[in-house]
Amino acid sequence: MRVIVLGGGISGLCAGYEVLRQVPDASVVVLEAGDRVGGAIATEHTEDGFLIERGPDAMLTQPDHALKLAQELGLEPRIVRTSSAVSGAFILRSKRLHPVPDGFALVAPGNLKAFLTTPLVSARGKARALLEPLLAPLQPAGELSLQTLVQGRLGQEVLDYLAEPLAGGIYGADPRLLSMHAALPKYAALAQRGQSLIGGVRRLQRGAGARAAGARYGLFISFQGGCGELISALAGALGPERIQLGQKVESLTRFGRGWQVNVTSRGEQGGERTRSLRADAVVCALPAARAAGVLRDATPELACELGAIPFGSSAVVSFAFEREQIAHPLDAYGFVVPKREGLSLRAATFSSVKWPGRAPVGTVLLRAFVGGSGGEGQAARPEAELVATLLAELRLILGIRGEPRFHRVDRYLSAMPRYYLGHEALVARIDEAARHQTHLALAGNSYRGVGIPEAIRSGRAAATTLVSALS
Ligand SMILES: Cc1cc2nc3c(=O)[nH]c(=O)nc-3n(C[C@H](O)[C@H](O)[C@H](O)COP(=O)(O)OP(=O)(O)OC[C@H]3O[C@@H](n4cnc5c(N)ncnc54)[C@H](O)[C@@H]3O)c2cc1C
Repeated sequence: MRVIVLGGGISGLCAGYEVLRQVPDASVVVLEAGDRVGGAIATEHTEDGFLIERGPDAMLTQPDHALKLAQELGLEPRIVRTSSAVSGAFILRSKRLHPVPDGFALVAPGNLKAFLTTPLVSARGKARALLEPLLAPLQPAGELSLQTLVQGRLGQEVLDYLAEPLAGGIYGADPRLLSMHAALPKYAALAQRGQSLIGGVRRLQRGAGARAAGARYGLFISFQGGCGELISALAGALGPERIQLGQKVESLTRFGRGWQVNVTSRGEQGGERTRSLRADAVVCALPAARAAGVLRDATPELACELGAIPFGSSAVVSFAFEREQIAHPLDAYGFVVPKREGLSLRAATFSSVKWPGRAPVGTVLLRAFVGGSGGEGQAARPEAELVATLLAELRLILGIRGEPRFHRVDRYLSAMPRYYLGHEALVARIDEAARHQTHLALAGNSYRGVGIPEAIRSGRAAATTLVSALS
């Protein structure tokens, strides 16, 4: 059994790992265009003792795909939880940071007392929101967007100052277009059943509270050496002989019931050559837009559907400061910025406060994010301009004096899948078109969840599908 995996991000590595776990004598090759595996997951250890997450910095423990994989790979002793010295996050309103009201669950309040006392929403906005349980059910003509749901049920202010910055921070999407069904189905289901969002969130939280009481870890985990530890462990389990770097997959062609993979390989001297590899089965673990290009000749119909998933851009700028340069107490994990505030900055993480051991004593590591709805262009700005703008905004918000010790800029251009209205139907059409392609399976975060746990699940599921088809 020869399986080729396209893409060495976490979903591709998981696919290769799972094939080998199920069929130890299978021949597995992971083809990665870049010069390292991990894709968006990249951890840097600086010489002066900072640990910088250049992409993701945390993994959800529910669903538990990341936690289970870490346990399987022997990484459990390396797991770290978010710091218990502080908790929660802030939201910016009128240049001041205010805590996210306790119990606010992305779209609706679960703790009415905390909601009533937050300065993030005016008295009028709160009165409007609290009418929600009395409103007639929403009867949307089609699929629900974040905007239709939150504005319709809880009013404009809750959308602008809570739901948009919180949900937008995760999905980076325009609230008018973000599909509640694809991105946040449990809240869409409440509205569809004609139930109150506030009542539903309170019930969901009571259930989650009961489950959390027995849970060993918090909602988010990482590792002592950052998310990159998971990549190193997966690459180690696969073995270096199964991972080929500098291999850009150009196209697939049918070869019997299997596939021929056409690749441009980067040589050691920097030269390029084209070559073809044959496989019984292929896992395509590329972002959908890239997969569309690779599959265009072999299966135009599938490629066309894949190409219809929109992608957005973001950039992350990490800054290191001396603690005494920052006036703000940094007593939370970070903050998000509502679009209404009109800044370039959309969010910031106080990384060295959120995680233990990320910066030497007496220093602070911050990560600033731009991009997402209305800010896509920010991510491509020239480095000097981007850094100066973010520094100016951070100075105002956090009271920062002087220059950072260093900064790092990482850009993710047209790299973030957007789950817009129609996404679920589009994924159903993709599944249907892919079903007709024998011995081909898709994986990655373009389809059923944008985070690491779903990338892991999808890679392993793709491997399982192919192994059972070939057995
Ligand atoms: C800034 C940022 C912050 C994030 N924060 C979080 C977070 O805190 N928690 C969380 O759960 N998720 C987070 N995510 C999302 C998470 O990183 C992704 O869900 C996950 O890494 C996706 O993995 P993947 O393998 O599907 O794709 P990718 O990581 O994109 O990997 C795809 C791989 O394919 C390779 N490739 C592309 N084209 C070709 C080709 N033609 N031939 C060969 N190889 C090719 C690429 O080089 C890449 O290595 C974040 C993402 C970003 C960008």
